[in-house]
Amino acid sequence: MDKVVDKAQVTDTTVLQVKGLKQYFPVKKEKIRQEKQYVKAVDDISFAIEKGTTLSIVGESGCGKSTTGRAILRLEEPTDGEILYKDTDLAKISKRQLKKVRGEIQVIFQDPFASLNPRRTIRKMLNEAMEIQQVGDRQNREARMLELMSLVGLPPDSLERLPHEFSGGQRQRIGIARALSVNPEVIICDEAVSALDVSIQAQIINLLKKLQKQFNLTYVFISHDLSVVRHISDRVMVMYLGKIVEIADKKDLFDKPLHPYTKALLSAIPTTDLDSQRKEIEISGDVPSPINPPSGCRFHTRCPFATEKCRQEEPSLQVKMNGSDNHLAACHYADEIFANS
Ligand code: SF4
Repeated sequence: MDKVVDKAQVTDTTVLQVKGLKQYFPVKKEKIRQEKQYVKAVDDISFAIEKGTTLSIVGESGCGKSTTGRAILRLEEPTDGEILYKDTDLAKISKRQLKKVRGEIQVIFQDPFASLNPRRTIRKMLNEAMEIQQVGDRQNREARMLELMSLVGLPPDSLERLPHEFSGGQRQRIGIARALSVNPEVIICDEAVSALDVSIQAQIINLLKKLQKQFNLTYVFISHDLSVVRHISDRVMVMYLGKIVEIADKKDLFDKPLHPYTKALLSAIPTTDLDSQRKEIEISGDVPSPINPPSGCRFHTRCPFATEKCRQEEPSLQVKMNGSDNHLAACHYADEIFANS
C-alpha cells in the first residue's frame, strides 16, 4: 500500500524547506475580453534539503527547475508557498531583510560573467561582492581574495585580469570564488557546468565537491544532464511541467527509478556498458504548454502506460511499495510498472 508522507520532511539538519511553492507568470492578453491566463512554471511543490548535501533538480527544459532556483533566491516573487531558511520564510520577508540573507544563499549561473561589467577586474568584482555583504575590512578582504584564488585553483595574478581573458572553465572557477567570497551556506548551481567540455565539467564538479566537504556547503544543483547529476548528488528531484514527479536518494533513483518519466530520462543516457539490461522507455512529442497543463497526470499525453485514470486523477507524490521510505513518486502505477520492468 502506498504511504503518504510529508513531502518536505524536516530533520535537525534541514537547512532549507520549500512548502507548497507556486510560481505563476501572467500571460499577456491577446484580446481585451480574454480570460486571464498564467504560465504555471512551478505548481505546488514541497521538498527539504539537508545541510552539507546536494539536491539536484532535473528535467527537460520548461519543467520548472530553474524557476524553482530563482524562487529560492527570490529573483522572482513566489505566487504562493513558503521557503523556510533558518526559520525565516524567504517568500515573505521584506527586501531589506532579504539583503541580509542574500549572502548566505548564493548562485552560480551557466555563464557567471553574463551580468558583469566586462571592464572590471576580478579583484573589483570580488571586492564589491564582499563590500555589499559587509564581509571583513579592506585588509581582510585582500587576504580573502588571495585565499579564494587558491581555493578555486587560479593563480593570484588572476585578480588583476578582466573577464574576457579567461576560458569557460576558469570563468566558472571565478563564479565559484565570487559565490564563496561572502561565506554562503547554500549555493544554487543553475546549469553551472552545462556549457563546459566534459573534461572541464569533471574538474568543476570535483572542485565543487571538495569545497562542499571543506565548508559543509549545501548545493541545489540544477541540470538537464543526468550523467553530470550522478556525480554530484546526494538526492535527486525530477520535475515535469512544474511538478515533482519523483524524489529519492541518488542511488535509489538511478538503480530503481519508479516513475516512467524518470525511467525515460535515464534510458536516454548514453552507456558504454554492452551488457546493460536497461529497458528503453521512449517518450514521444513535446512537453505540453504549462498554460493549460494536461488534466490528471501531467505526463499522460506522453506516457506509454497512460490509462483513463491517469487522464482523470492527478497522482500524488508518495512512497511506493518498491521504494525506500525516502523515495517518493507521483504515478498511479509505479509499482506495477516497476514489477514488469
Ligand atoms: Fe504514466 Fe499514468 Fe503513471 Fe502518469 S500516472 S506516469 S500517465 S502511468
